Amino acid sequence: MKKIMVVGCGAYMDSGYGCPGEWRCLKAAALGEGNFEEASSVVGLIKCECPGKTLVPNTGMAIKLSEIKPDAIYLSSCLVDSKPDCPYAGSEELAKMIEGKTGIKVIMGTHDYH
Ligand code: SF4
Repeated sequence: MKKIMVVGCGAYMDSGYGCPGEWRCLKAAALGEGNFEEASSVVGLIKCECPGKTLVPNTGMAIKLSEIKPDAIYLSSCLVDSKPDCPYAGSEELAKMIEGKTGIKVIMGTHDYH
């Protein structure tokens, strides 16, 4: 089973009723639905916090402290698809920064549940 980490947008998680930390990302990973090719084990759920400066180091620290290198890192659908987009970096830039730091592939979005 693949090991994956999920990064959620904290601004959305704190105020959105359908937040990415609630169940959708976890369900999609567990069932291998949405952008997951197979049922996957979530080994980390990282919450970005505005303005996003701690996201990359926190992701690196989560990998280091857990001693688990995930096969992929998923940006939550709410982070990737929300409109307006992240006003600080934008999901594409966040993905590039995480890939640059970790060397792990970042996948844009987790699920398509509504
Ligand atoms: S910096 Fe962007 S992605 Fe991170 S919590 Fe704020 S709005 Fe969300």
